Amino acid sequence: MIAKVIVDIATSELDRIFDYKIGYSGAVQGSRVIVPFGKFKTEGFVIGVKETSDYPEEKLKSIIRVVDEVPALTKENLRLAEFIKNKYHSSMASVLRLFLPSEMRTGKVRSKTATYITLSDTVSVSEMISSLRKGADKQLAVLEFLRDNGKTKQSILNETFSAGAVTALKNKGFLVASEEKILRTPYKDLSGGGERVKLTKEQELAVNSIENSDKPTLLKGVTGSGKTEVYLQLIERVIKDGKTAIMLVPEISLTPQTFSRLRSRFGDKCAILHSGLSAGEKFDEWWRLRSGEALIGVGARSAIFAPLENLGLIIIDEEHDQSYESESNPRYVTEEIALERAKLSGAKLVLGSATPNVHTYLKATTGEYNLAEMKERVNGRPMPEIIIADMKEEIRRGNISPFSVALKQELKNTLDKGNQAIIFLNRRGYSQKVICRECGYVAKCLNCDVALHYHRAESVLKCHFCNSQYHMLTACPDCGSVSINYTGTGTQKVVDELQQLFPTAKILRMDNDTTQNKEGHFKILKEFGEKKADILVGTQMVAKGHDFPSVTLVGILDADMSLYFSDYRSGERTFQLVTQVAGRSGRADEKGKVVLQTYSPKNPVLSSSISYDYENFFKRECMVRKASYFPPFSHILRLMVESEDEETAINTLKSAFEKAREVYGNYHGSFIYFDKMKSPVKKIKNKYRFQILARIKDNYQAIEDEFYDIANRLTSKKVLCYLEVNPSSVS
Ligand code: ADP
Ligand code: ZN
Ligand code: ZN
Repeated sequence: MIAKVIVDIATSELDRIFDYKIGYSGAVQGSRVIVPFGKFKTEGFVIGVKETSDYPEEKLKSIIRVVDEVPALTKENLRLAEFIKNKYHSSMASVLRLFLPSEMRTGKVRSKTATYITLSDTVSVSEMISSLRKGADKQLAVLEFLRDNGKTKQSILNETFSAGAVTALKNKGFLVASEEKILRTPYKDLSGGGERVKLTKEQELAVNSIENSDKPTLLKGVTGSGKTEVYLQLIERVIKDGKTAIMLVPEISLTPQTFSRLRSRFGDKCAILHSGLSAGEKFDEWWRLRSGEALIGVGARSAIFAPLENLGLIIIDEEHDQSYESESNPRYVTEEIALERAKLSGAKLVLGSATPNVHTYLKATTGEYNLAEMKERVNGRPMPEIIIADMKEEIRRGNISPFSVALKQELKNTLDKGNQAIIFLNRRGYSQKVICRECGYVAKCLNCDVALHYHRAESVLKCHFCNSQYHMLTACPDCGSVSINYTGTGTQKVVDELQQLFPTAKILRMDNDTTQNKEGHFKILKEFGEKKADILVGTQMVAKGHDFPSVTLVGILDADMSLYFSDYRSGERTFQLVTQVAGRSGRADEKGKVVLQTYSPKNPVLSSSISYDYENFFKRECMVRKASYFPPFSHILRLMVESEDEETAINTLKSAFEKAREVYGNYHGSFIYFDKMKSPVKKIKNKYRFQILARIKDNYQAIEDEFYDIANRLTSKKVLCYLEVNPSSVS
């Protein structure tokens, strides 16, 4: 028999199938194998098996060995891989990599075992004891310990008593040793809050609607409407039917509560897949799913590739979150993969959000998706009242602090009552750009061509793209002036000013600076959840689905910030952000409040979010995008060219543009826009960046295929070309 093997080397020249003799290796479809390749050995995947090869038998090499006892990939995985390869025009090797934790491929992690000791049952304990020579106290102690406690890890016996005593008893045949697998379990203590509750009427209707529909469902439920409970009960039913489930969350370290609830409800049946785990933890959790020991895979976007068979349900929580779009090759959209996986396995797909993406909601209104709505918070709790603070008016009245009068007053009330508050702002660091007041010089990163940010705690300038650090400026390098201005407001400055206003309040800060290490988010959220602090100040991270019952006030410092991005989705992002942050307030018994600070109180996007009017926002947004041909009423293609050598980048851009122009010629009427240019950020990590931008209203599929082709053909060792479809940010 012949195995069709994809070798694990992701360069496009090798994107083909190689034939190997299976011999006695035992390889089957889906096996990971070690094969000879040129002068070396390499890892590969068996994607199929056949009787004969087109190559002469004697020229074929044989598989050296199979890596895992069970094939790592299922048949369904392979079909999904084929779909991804075709859809995103990537090599099979790079697609198959998505299906395994990266550490597994290098062969560096294995399952961990330990030696356990029990008493032999061929001799009675009393006989053993009486046979010991006088003074063999340690051996006696070991025997007694095992008699009372049963099976024990050898390392523990060695440490507690002595290795010599254990060996001596072994030699006498009194002890039996066995090798057992030990699991490395991530977030061991994370469990709780998953008590089963009686569903509200709306929740029940939602569950029924999802179960009775054969389409994917958009579960649109206001913040605090109890979407998680709906997911839990859906999972419960699927497990009862003997099937398995995947639940995706934007970022597990930001939403520990969700995992905590799942684990307290389903225990060891849940496995967590998450980039922050140690290699060993990832390996063990992955195998628990693959072996069928765990039935529920939970994690960020890559958990869509969880090695589960018999899949009955896929949930994408907070489906509007940007983290569901992959930013490295293959640049997949999680929803597209989930749709295909659900189709292949006959699983149900549920997309949940209080603020669905415009394109998702459009599908729900046209009937492509089933729509299940929950319009009320659990137990009829009211949505928080949103108070607008017009910051232009504040300045006119002489208030130049980052806080409006209303926010200061509400903060005082909240703290007086012993409640908690969350303060949200869009930036991190102490201040924004560093500008020379004399000549307008702006301090920039040498590798990235973006403005540097001043971080007061460390007293350095940082690049937010590559993390390079620079000394603070004492004088302008261009004109020598010492009049350097550190403008803007960042999280750190907000904390400092808050502390001055409320000297006794305990304030926590959460942004990329305070959460560098793996457990950073957890610690801050946990402390805040345990009411060890009064105010949490943070960036986007505080907007995620947290459920803190004591939070009754949310302050949004600069609601306009994201309105002015040049991106066609900036209105949508702003609406989502405001609604999500506001949704953290008043989730328990006491009504919540939100103070929203803005320089443009009449902005229609803000008006819709203040009244929680998604429909109104959606209608307006669709009208605007339809009239100007923006997605979802068109497609945006961005063909990126990146190289460390500027000239190579420019030449490649020229070739790409020539080829793209032919496509443009063939489909002339389909293009709304077509041009080449420098990328907005001209350089990142020393790579020069150029782009071709196109907006297309019809014949999209054919044009996309051609653009993918151009990108793939021009990519080489010196230059990277890739295609982005409807990119969520165009930096
Ligand atoms: P969402 O994800 O929609 O924002 P959550 O799932 O976090 O909302 O639920 C909000 C709160 O309501 C949680 O504290 C949750 O435990 C509680 N809750 C959910 N469903 C019920 C129910 N049926 N009965 C009582 N409390 C519930
Ligand atoms: Zn200057
Ligand atoms: Zn940089």
